[in-house]
Amino acid sequence: MHRAATAPLRIDAATGLLVGARQVLSPHCDARPAGLKPDLLVVHGISLPPGEFGGPWIDRLFTGALPPDAHPYFKEIEGLIASAHALIRRDGQIVQYVPFGQRAWHAGKSEYQGRAACNDFSIGIELEGADGTPYTEAQYQQLAALAAALLATYDSLSAEHIAGHSDIAPGRKEDPWPTFDWPRFRALLKERWPR
Ligand SMILES: [Zn+2]
Repeated sequence: MHRAATAPLRIDAATGLLVGARQVLSPHCDARPAGLKPDLLVVHGISLPPGEFGGPWIDRLFTGALPPDAHPYFKEIEGLIASAHALIRRDGQIVQYVPFGQRAWHAGKSEYQGRAACNDFSIGIELEGADGTPYTEAQYQQLAALAAALLATYDSLSAEHIAGHSDIAPGRKEDPWPTFDWPRFRALLKERWPR
């Protein structure tokens, strides 16, 4: 069966914003350390509450407005201050929280190839998902399109340096879980970014 690829995405390099995406800008970000450019892409998985899709809660978490009384799990994570650059929802819709040139707070205590504090030098993309639930075709397509747009915009990035949260925080984080099909994503990215 032939599946049409989604349209290419474009990032405005001056603002670090994805053209045409829904933007819900988060206060949970700051400048990268002087001289540091993003050279790592980190793939995450998230759902709020865990295992439930489609609600407003990820936007609320990343903007510091998650009501702790709306769900027992929200009480557990009360006070968590986090963000990611973008989220790809189950239907492929992209929400951007932090301009790509800024530092989002997605990785926590982390290390990539001997370098700690991955937030300093990475871009964090969340996929709405849950352990054991396959990600959707639309999500793979959009993740490949977004990764290709990022590679085209930031020449400090490279297709070789893409990791999962579980890779940079082993033993502490498991997302995007074994459910994430790395070979499938890499094949789609190669179609869009053959270099
Ligand atoms: Zn994560």
